[in-house]
Amino acid sequence: MSNDCKVCRTHRGLEVVPGGVIVEDELVVASHAQLREGQDRAYLGYLMVETRRHIPGLADLTEAEGSAVMHAASRLARALMATEHAYHVYSFVIGHGVPHFHMHVVAKYPGAPREYWGPRVDEWPDAPHGGPDEIAALCARLRGYLAAAP
Ligand SMILES: [Zn+2]
Repeated sequence: MSNDCKVCRTHRGLEVVPGGVIVEDELVVASHAQLREGQDRAYLGYLMVETRRHIPGLADLTEAEGSAVMHAASRLARALMATEHAYHVYSFVIGHGVPHFHMHVVAKYPGAPREYWGPRVDEWPDAPHGGPDEIAALCARLRGYLAAAP
């Protein structure tokens, strides 16, 4: 736990993410990405799977954390395809911004032009975007799907 870390602060309830926690277990927490500073709309279906432990990157995961991250990411990908009609889901780890492990899990929507494929997919202006209410509704759909999933 680090008081200066935005991810740790969120896990402790000191900062709020739109839509709240989608899935969690003793090792990982997943939620929708926050709105960027100064923006009132976000690319919908941009999720983050974070370790509870304050560790910087892939090399620091225990085997159990690695399994928990991929289990959550895979379930979220299925949910994005089922409820948001994503036709592909990206996952990647960058780690330039915050030194607390987080895997990006990002819906790719039908019609996404080739120049936006990959980590830039959220720059496609015609993709679904929304504010806190749309993000909350999306998170509720994902939770509903996952609660009913085997
Ligand atoms: Zn942290």
